[in-house]
Amino acid sequence: MTADTLQIEIKQTDKSRLQEVDFNNLVFGRNIADHMFIADYRDGQWQNSRIVPYGDLSLSPATAALHYGQAIFEGMKAYKSEEGDTLLFRAIDNWKRFNKSAERLCMPSIPEEVFMGGLTELLRLDAAWVPSQEGCSLYIRPYMFATDAYVGVKPSDTYTFIIFTCPVGTYYAKPPRVKVETHFIRAAEGGVGGTKCAGNYAGSLYPAKLAQEEGYDQLIWTDAREHAYIEESGTMNVMFVMDGKLVTPFVSDTTLDGITRKSIVAIAHHWGIPVEERRISVKEIIEALKENRLESAFGAGTAVVVSPFATIAYEGVDYALPELKEDSFVNKVKDYLTEIRTGKTEDIFGWTLKV
Ligand SMILES: *Cc1c(COP(=O)(O)O)cnc(C)c1O
Repeated sequence: MTADTLQIEIKQTDKSRLQEVDFNNLVFGRNIADHMFIADYRDGQWQNSRIVPYGDLSLSPATAALHYGQAIFEGMKAYKSEEGDTLLFRAIDNWKRFNKSAERLCMPSIPEEVFMGGLTELLRLDAAWVPSQEGCSLYIRPYMFATDAYVGVKPSDTYTFIIFTCPVGTYYAKPPRVKVETHFIRAAEGGVGGTKCAGNYAGSLYPAKLAQEEGYDQLIWTDAREHAYIEESGTMNVMFVMDGKLVTPFVSDTTLDGITRKSIVAIAHHWGIPVEERRISVKEIIEALKENRLESAFGAGTAVVVSPFATIAYEGVDYALPELKEDSFVNKVKDYLTEIRTGKTEDIFGWTLKV
C-alpha cells in the first residue's frame, strides 16, 4: 500500500474559519486549520482513517494517557513555494522519529502510509492555510495517545493518532536570554529524554518558570550526573560557532535527535566548515566567550528554525554574546534552510517533498 492508496474517509467542514485568521499577525499555536486527520488503533491494527472538521474529542475520564502519560508527538513544517505548491520538509524523518518514540513508550508504530498518506491528504485539503508571508509556515502536529479506559498501569491496547496544523509566524520576537540550569534536569541516561513524549515537557515547565521569574526566556539543560555538560535548550538543540568550527553536543538518549540540527550539520559539511559533535562543557563555552572565540550560540529546532542567543547566564553571571555579523554562519544557514524549504533554491539534499 502506498500513501495514495490509503483509504481515508473525508468529511469536509461546511464553515471554514480561514477568514477569521490575521495572516499578518500570526501568534504561534493560536490558530488551528479547518481539518484534522484521525486513525484508531484497535484489535492490533490501525483503522478508521478519516479527515474531519477540527473539533473536540470525547474521552473517558479513565483514558490511560491522562493518567500514565503514554503520549508522544512530532512537530514539523510545511511551506508555500513561490509557485504556490505546498512543500514538506524532511517529513519522513519525523515519521521515523515518531516510531522511535512509540517503541520506547510501548506504543504501536505507525505505518508510513498512515502517517504520510494522512498528512498529504490533510495538507491538500487545507492548502489555503499554508501561509505565504515571509517567515511564516504551517506547523504540523502529529501525536498519539493511549485510549484504554482502564485504571491500571500497563501499556494500553488502544490508541488514537491525530494530525492537525496551525499557520505560524516566527517564534521568538527577539534573541532569547538563556540560563544554564544546574539543579533541575530534563533527562537522565536510560530515560526517555531522546523521545518526544509528553511528560518531558511537563517536567520542564517548573524550572523554565523559575528562570522566567529571574528574567530569562529559556534554559540550557546540563547533564544529570555533574551538571557540567551542555545538553539542549527547551525544545531546541544547541549549537555553537567557535574557532571557525560548528560545535554541537552529540545525540544520545538524553538529547533529542533534532532534524533541524542534523540539517545544519549537513549544510556545514557541504560548505566545508569543520563540524564537531561531541561533549561540550559549560566551562569551555564560558571560556571561549571570555576570550572572544565564540562567534555565536544558538538553538535549532522546527519551531524556531535557528534562534541565536543574546545572553547566556551561568552561576549568577550574565554573559552577553557578540553582535551577529550579516554574513555570520547563523544568518547564512538560516537563509539557506529557508530557501530550501520554500523551494527558492535547488534542494541538493532531497529534503523537500511536494504535496
Ligand atoms: C523537537 C525538539 C527538538 C528539535 O527537533 P527538530 O526535529 O529540529 O524540530 C530539540 N529538542 C527537543 C527536546 C525537542 O522536543
